[in-house]
Amino acid sequence: MDQSALMDTYGPRIAKLVKGDGCYLWDDEGNQYLDALSGIAVCGLGHKHPGVTEAITEQANTLLHISNLFQIEPQERLGRRLREISGMDKVFFSNSGAEANEAAIKIARKYANKKGVLDPIIVTFNGSFHGRTMATLTATGNSKVKDGFAPFLSGFIHAPYNDVATLKTIIKCNPRVIAVMVEPIQGEGGINIPADNYLNELRSLCDEHDLLLILDEIQTGNGRTGRFFSYQWNGITPDVVTTAKGLGNGLPIGACLAKGKAAEVFQPGNHGSTFGGNPFCTHVADRVVQHIVEDDLLAHAEKLGEFYLQRFNEELSGLSQVKEIRGKGLLIGIELSQPASTIVAQAKDKGLIVNVTSGSVIRLLPPLVTTFDQAEQTVSILAEIIKAL
Ligand SMILES: *Cc1c(COP(=O)(O)O)cnc(C)c1O
Repeated sequence: MDQSALMDTYGPRIAKLVKGDGCYLWDDEGNQYLDALSGIAVCGLGHKHPGVTEAITEQANTLLHISNLFQIEPQERLGRRLREISGMDKVFFSNSGAEANEAAIKIARKYANKKGVLDPIIVTFNGSFHGRTMATLTATGNSKVKDGFAPFLSGFIHAPYNDVATLKTIIKCNPRVIAVMVEPIQGEGGINIPADNYLNELRSLCDEHDLLLILDEIQTGNGRTGRFFSYQWNGITPDVVTTAKGLGNGLPIGACLAKGKAAEVFQPGNHGSTFGGNPFCTHVADRVVQHIVEDDLLAHAEKLGEFYLQRFNEELSGLSQVKEIRGKGLLIGIELSQPASTIVAQAKDKGLIVNVTSGSVIRLLPPLVTTFDQAEQTVSILAEIIKAL
């Protein structure tokens, strides 16, 4: 491997993967791996999915890019599909998660300005991750990714996650608060799952104080938790929701959806993107979303998620190495009582691709198309490694 021309942003690479098919990946030496990471919650339909390949081929043979100066039929089609699924009103398409969040932050600020709040505050949470651009890095509540990048933007306050009482106090003390921006489950932060009614309480609080509820579903969206969006577990709708990762199954696309008053904020000239919403990515994402919904992958992700939790609990609960096993759908974390950094390489040596986040949490983000047999294989490989720690 010769990485001499690359900036050192990612540390040593785990393997050189050259081919994928379904839930399997192969490296340059022909070794096969079971994928329990999906390229970090991206390839929900697995690799080389025939429907996705067909959509890619169709659009490659038609039109890749024309700019948003022109009507883009697949963009309109994907917008209508997402509106139907989400209960939201309107969408702006970006090329990444961070950019979708940038759009959400700009909506909140413009909304505040219209209301005469000229110096608005967005509340975000400790342990959160919202992206690597300056505004989303400011919103992020993790000093590890922020260190060295000051000065940050003004207009952000961090509150403790899953703590409605403290948030209430913060909102009461700060009349300039205009929005609450939150992940339904903190992904990068270690698969932190709040109380079942957390989003409902945030919804009520935001209604009471006329604040925008902005949900970052970049990781939890697109079927990951067993609903298309995780907020659908709570029977609420946010004012703004962002997603990205699994939306394009590997093509770069993000979306910022808004409802009601938040959907009317942007006017011509307020926001834009050269690539965002291009025919290629939106045509493919439209097919991806269609497969997630119509192939019953939401119900499958829910059931398979329950299976993983049950089997991990059977194999691991009570072990001193294991602090907690938690998950919703196919967003699963096994928190160890020690650093988990060696697990990635050990799993790789046994033919399994997993990830570690937040130091001690083994994170599983298997494709939505994973079978029960493949899930069982994942459990047995990891259980063997963890028991031997
Ligand atoms: C990955 C992620 C982002 C950033 O998305 P990028 O596409 O890397 O910019 C933002 N928020 C959450 C919750 C994420 O998981």
